[in-house]
Amino acid sequence: SDLQLKDPSLLVEAAYVAGAWVEATDENAINVTNPATGAVIGRVPNLGAAETDAAIEAAAEAMKAWAQRTAKDRAQVLRRWHDLMMEHQDDLGTILTAEQGKPLAEAKGEIAYSASFLEWFSEEARRAYGDITPGHAPDKRLLTLKQPIGVVAAITPWNFPSAMITRKAGPAFAAGCAMVLKPAIQTPLSATALALLGERAGLPKGLFSVVTGSAGAIGGALTSSKTVRKLTFTGSTEIGALLYEQCAPTIKKLGLELGGNAPFIVFDDADVDAAVEGAVIAKFRNNGQTCVCANRIYVQAGVYDEFAEKLAAKVATLATGNGFDEGITFGPLIDDAAVAKVKEHVEDATSKGASVALGGEAHDLGGLFYQPTILTDVTSDMLVTIEETFGPVAPLFKFDKESEAVEAANDTDFGLASYFYSRDLARVWRVSEALDFGMVGVNTGLISTAEAPFGGVKMSGLGREGSRYGLEDFMETKYVCMGGI
Ligand code: ADP
Repeated sequence: SDLQLKDPSLLVEAAYVAGAWVEATDENAINVTNPATGAVIGRVPNLGAAETDAAIEAAAEAMKAWAQRTAKDRAQVLRRWHDLMMEHQDDLGTILTAEQGKPLAEAKGEIAYSASFLEWFSEEARRAYGDITPGHAPDKRLLTLKQPIGVVAAITPWNFPSAMITRKAGPAFAAGCAMVLKPAIQTPLSATALALLGERAGLPKGLFSVVTGSAGAIGGALTSSKTVRKLTFTGSTEIGALLYEQCAPTIKKLGLELGGNAPFIVFDDADVDAAVEGAVIAKFRNNGQTCVCANRIYVQAGVYDEFAEKLAAKVATLATGNGFDEGITFGPLIDDAAVAKVKEHVEDATSKGASVALGGEAHDLGGLFYQPTILTDVTSDMLVTIEETFGPVAPLFKFDKESEAVEAANDTDFGLASYFYSRDLARVWRVSEALDFGMVGVNTGLISTAEAPFGGVKMSGLGREGSRYGLEDFMETKYVCMGGI
C-alpha cells in the first residue's frame, strides 16, 4: 500500500478471530478502495458463519475471566487503548481518510472522538452501582446488582468507521462483556487497526473479534446464536428492522442506532450568522453522510432570504476534493449508490418545482464527487423531505408560525437529531419539549459527545450510546432477596 504511515504495522490486512489474525489470501479477499481515487489500499478476508461461530465461542470463554476482574483493572486496559489511539492519531486518521474519503483533519477529529469513548467508559466502569432498597419484611433485605449482559454482537457502518466501534466496545468491555464485531465492508481497516491496538493495550485473546466479510452470513450467525445476548447495530432502519426480526427467536436485547431525518429550524429571533455556521456543520459534515445531519432546513419568513443568501455564500467558499489535499471540506461520497441517491433526490425536487440556489450537479472532479447543493422552494411531497438524502444537499423551506415549523419537523417516521436557533428563552423551552426527537441541538449544529446520551425515538432506534445510560445498556439488573436476617 502507498499510505504514508509512521507505523506501517497499523495497516492490518487481516481479520481478528478468537484471538488469531486471519489474513486475506488471493482466493479469499475483499479489496478496500479509496473512494476519492478508486485505488485499492488493502484487502481483508471474506469470512462467514464458521469464523463467526468460532469468535462467539471464544468470546464466551474469554468473558468469564474478564467479568471477574475488577472494574479498575478493566478500566486500565480501556485507558491504555485510548492512549494508544491518541499516540497513533495521525496514522489512524490516514487509514480512515483512505478508506472512507472524509478530509484528513475531520478523520483525525473522528479518531479523537472515537478514543474519547474508551476514555469515558474507562471512567464509567467503576460507577456501575447497584442499590439496596428498604425491604417489605423485617427479616429481608433487597439488593440490586449490575452484571454484564453477556456476549455482545456489534454491526457498524462506514460513515464513522472508528467511532461507531468504540461507542459500543467501550461500554461493553467496561461492563465486563465480550464482543464480536462485523465492521462495514467499505471500511474494515479502521476496525482491524483498532483491534491491533486493543491487543497491544491488553485486551485478552478472544474477548474482541473483528470478523470481516459477508454481511448476511456473519449477521445471520450473530443473530441466531443463543450465546450472543445483545446486538448493538448502527446503520439503516431497513437493515435494523431485519436484524430486530432475526433477534426475536433468541430474545436478545437490542441497541439500534438507525436513520434520521433531522430538522434544522431557524426562527426570526435567531442569530442568523450563528445559524449559518451551525447549518454548515450540521448539514455538510462528512459530506452530509451522518445520521444526525440536518436533512430539512426550515427558515422563518423574516430571515429566510438573508439565511439562504448567507448559507449559499458560505458554502460556495468551501472546497471539494481528495481528503488528503489541503483545505478540503467536502470529500467524495462513499460509493455509486450514494451518488445515485443524491442525484435522484435533486432531480425529484427540481421536477416538482424546487430551485437550485447552489450546486445541483455531479462535480467536475467526476467519480464519487458531487457539488454541495442548496435547494429552495422545497415542499413536503419531495423525496428530500421524506427520506434521508445522506449527501451534500440542503433543502430550504419557508415557514411563518412556530407551530407550523414544529408540526412539519415532527411529521416524519424518524426521531434522531433535531436542531433549532432562537434567542427567546420561552421559545427555547417550548420547542425543545415539543420536538419528537431523541436529541435537540439549541443554537448549535454539533451535539455528539461521549458524555451525552446519543439515540433516537420512533423508527430511529432503541437505546442510548455514550453517557452513563450507554453503560447501563450493556448490563443486566439482578435482584437478590436476602431473607432470614
Ligand atoms: P448503510 O446504508 O449505512 O450502508 P446498512 O444498514 O446497509 O447501512 O449497513 C450498516 C451495517 O450493516 C454494515 O456493516 C453492513 O454490512 C451491515 N449489514 C447490511 N446488511 C446486513 C444483513 N443482512 N445482516 C447483517 N448485517 C448487515
